[in-house]
Amino acid sequence: MPAVLDIRTLVLIYVGINIGQAVVLVYLWSVQRNYPPAKDWALGSLMFAIGLFLFALRNLVPAVLSEVVSNLFLLPGLMLFNFGIARATGREPPFMSGVALCVVANAILAWFVLVAPNYPAAVFTQNVVFLAFDIYTAYACLTARTAEGNHTFRLIGVLFVLLVIVCSWRVAGGVFGLTFSFSPTLPRLFWIATSLISFPMITVLLTLHTSQRLQEEILAQARHDTLTDAYNRRAFTEFADKEWSRSMRHGSPFSILSVDIDHFKLFNDQHGHQTGDKALVEVSKSAQAALRANDIWCRYGGEEFIALLPDTTMDRALAVAERLRLSVERTTISSPRGALNVSVSIGVAERSSHHADLSAVLAISDAALYKAKAAGRNRVVAAGREE
Ligand code: GH3
Ligand code: MG
Ligand code: MG
Repeated sequence: MPAVLDIRTLVLIYVGINIGQAVVLVYLWSVQRNYPPAKDWALGSLMFAIGLFLFALRNLVPAVLSEVVSNLFLLPGLMLFNFGIARATGREPPFMSGVALCVVANAILAWFVLVAPNYPAAVFTQNVVFLAFDIYTAYACLTARTAEGNHTFRLIGVLFVLLVIVCSWRVAGGVFGLTFSFSPTLPRLFWIATSLISFPMITVLLTLHTSQRLQEEILAQARHDTLTDAYNRRAFTEFADKEWSRSMRHGSPFSILSVDIDHFKLFNDQHGHQTGDKALVEVSKSAQAALRANDIWCRYGGEEFIALLPDTTMDRALAVAERLRLSVERTTISSPRGALNVSVSIGVAERSSHHADLSAVLAISDAALYKAKAAGRNRVVAAGREE
């Protein structure tokens, strides 16, 4: 196989690719200012590109610049870039340990370049640090908990595994004192190809992750009520339809609570709309605290809420409703005129086999709510069973 490129040309291509990557990631950061990992990717890749550029000047400039100063950029740059990816997977990377590793490694590198020149030892030190950061990032990406069908981090993880393999190769070279020249053999080509292809691919995948994250954020916003952050009516319909089918399929029970704040018009008139809004937020919060994690809490209309309780029979739902009612009753709402209280009335219904659809269940829980209001408010009334 003929030698195609000499080492300097290859390193320069590598520098060009990394500068391109840094430009793209700095631009990504500029449009994603409120996403902290984007800043880590941008600054990390920028530092890495600067370090690599200095490294490419090897034998053209003093060694202190190409082999010592370059690593002052390369190692922290790679750390920042990799830790930014780990942060994007939801982890909190060991920043202090990372910085300590960079400081120690740079001191050792300076020793092997300036005091007791030993090129393989320097290569070994540098690559051990790369390996440590790449193994950590590969692990973070491959174990990331991502939405079903979203394999962006898995793919990034696989690329980091390839980088780990390539890097181990270089470490082995350093350990066994092999020279660092590019020979035109197949393993070398694999090494070159992996190094050159991984970073552009990782950049594309990070950009994709950012847009997927935005999509999820927009979808979450579209499902939540802006004032209380409870699910909105649209989300409720979505969840309720799913729950209805699941319940029909498995014959499992589910119950619905229709919750309405008592005399809320009067509350608004007496304390103002702003305090009314605060009350809505507090009621929603305390109601949610009384529910389980897989119960669905939604703001159905102005001051009316609905709780959908999967796998819950009427008896259990009545107990939950009572707990919810008490939780709201005990909640205080701060106002310019001191602490205030509100109460809720609740109608409870359980799905039964003769209900044609969800609206039938909603209608009877609503009728029960009406009865709770008529009976004096701040109470729970069961419906459905007597039908
Ligand atoms: P009841 O006990 O029979 O439920 O009496 P109510 O006054 O609560 O019932 P009604 O349905 O007549 O009044 C609902 C009030 O809820 C009217 C409206 O001013 C208030 N409301 C609805 N949405 C909001 C909101 O987003 N913020 C505030 N502050 N008030 C709201
Ligand atoms: Mg009301
Ligand atoms: Mg109402």
